[in-house]
Amino acid sequence: MTADDDIDVVVIGSGMGGATLAAGLAPSGARIVILERGERLADRPETRDARAIFQKGAFRPQETWFDAAGAAFNPGNYYYVGGNTKFYGAVLIRYRAEDFQPIQYAEGRTPGWPFGYDELEPWYGRAEALYQVRGRLGEDPTEPDHSAPYPFPPVPDEPAIAAVRERLARAGLRPFSLPLGVDIERWLARAKTPWDAFPDTNTGKMDAETCGLEAALAHDNVSIETGARVVRLETDGAGKRVETVVYEKQGATHRLNARFVALAAGAVNSALLLLASANGAAPGGLANRADQVGRHFMNHNSSAALAIDPFTRNDAIYQKTIGVNDFYLDDGRGGPPLGNVQLLGKISGAILKSQLRLAPEAALELMARRAVDFYLMSEDLPSPDSRVRLDGSRVVLDWRPSNLAAQAGLVARMREVLRAAGFPIVLVKPFDRRTPSHQCGTIRMGRDPAEAAVDPHCRAFDHPNLFVVDASVLPTSAGVNPALTVAALALRAAEHIRATELAA
Ligand SMILES: Cc1cc2nc3c(=O)[nH]c(=O)nc-3n(C[C@H](O)[C@H](O)[C@H](O)COP(=O)(O)OP(=O)(O)OC[C@H]3O[C@@H](n4cnc5c(N)ncnc54)[C@H](O)[C@@H]3O)c2cc1C
Repeated sequence: MTADDDIDVVVIGSGMGGATLAAGLAPSGARIVILERGERLADRPETRDARAIFQKGAFRPQETWFDAAGAAFNPGNYYYVGGNTKFYGAVLIRYRAEDFQPIQYAEGRTPGWPFGYDELEPWYGRAEALYQVRGRLGEDPTEPDHSAPYPFPPVPDEPAIAAVRERLARAGLRPFSLPLGVDIERWLARAKTPWDAFPDTNTGKMDAETCGLEAALAHDNVSIETGARVVRLETDGAGKRVETVVYEKQGATHRLNARFVALAAGAVNSALLLLASANGAAPGGLANRADQVGRHFMNHNSSAALAIDPFTRNDAIYQKTIGVNDFYLDDGRGGPPLGNVQLLGKISGAILKSQLRLAPEAALELMARRAVDFYLMSEDLPSPDSRVRLDGSRVVLDWRPSNLAAQAGLVARMREVLRAAGFPIVLVKPFDRRTPSHQCGTIRMGRDPAEAAVDPHCRAFDHPNLFVVDASVLPTSAGVNPALTVAALALRAAEHIRATELAA
């Protein structure tokens, strides 16, 4: 491709934000080119092999990041067409209406959003339609208003999980059907495995490739170039308009000019790209006049809780159909909020072995078969000191987890409830701090250019033709999974770009 191509929009990244934006822009007829660093994920035996995925890290990137103390780690951040959604648990849940307002926790307060839930509601509905979300209204007391029902009924509980749902209800909780983007029959037809953290090779997961990108590529005016790693954005001499996207492919450097650039490389990589694009007019990096880029990095504080009933076998395959929000808006006793609870994909001996290397896998499998596995997730609060930055060519992820009292409270409350529900043993392990699955916040959205990098329509304050449409823009992490909110914001940004820039 050459600089002479008449391109309207270059989208950087084909994950949740980029693919969904492209789907929203595609019907305009604008010429859209998506540049994606990864390749398409091909089907092979390892895609459904827990040992290959969890013990051998078969799909992890050949990449090293560093924490603030200088310790090297291999991040669980995936580079394929579809981005991290290829591996996601496909929980497609809306932020609660309360999440858009400031929330007071025991250890801090969230800033709220530049707009309220009502503004995003219609876009949530469109995102649920695009990602074919399975769910049911009326079960979760924290569920915000929906102007349309879920497009599909919920993924059914397996019998062992239906029994867990009853046990939780008898213990006083109000379990609800997790909203999910999975066609369970297609998923199980490929192999009888869970889907959470298992890569999707177009076998039933509703991810950024199978839904967003497919919708976009149905239009002749949209194309994707894979294996294309963007390394820099260049501006005009005044540092105002982004003119050129520089990328590397198979060892060669290429340059693309476009009227608009939409950055969606994920919260860590989008911020790094802006920082790496510093020039004379923008010495601190693009979109960074207010020194906001890379700051406010958030990721959820989360733990796995294995609730063990030695007398009951859990023979579920996929398990992940129930959520609990009883401690989301308060701790159930009038105290501050704690977070969301949802089932994990079924943990097996092979998965446990990746954490407990010395234990025999057969013994771990015996334990796993007596366990029901929960994911306990609490909001991380935005802090300017929690950040991603470049140290030369090194990626430094200096995450400062916050609001840990909420996570500790959630663990304590769930221990109580699970024991009351007949699980005498509850084993809890915090998730690895270096797993940035729910990364967000690094190029945050706001009304005040002194405190945010992009405006409420995701347009960079400093560059009128640059939009950021991935998890970077989230002003808060909330206590629920981020992907549906990323998709809703991308659809809303697409409509704004169409109306204000592409209409003529
Ligand atoms: C194991 C796992 C489970 C998860 N489960 C859930 C869940 O159940 N529900 C939920 O809501 N969220 C879940 N998430 C998080 C969810 O996947 C992310 O929130 C979502 O994908 C973020 O979208 P994004 O557009 O910001 O980034 P991504 O979807 O990661 O997309 C970024 C894209 O940019 C590409 N890219 C990066 N750098 C460059 C570059 N320099 N040039 C070109 N392309 C580049 C990447 O390859 C990728 O395709 C999970 C994540 C993981 C890892």
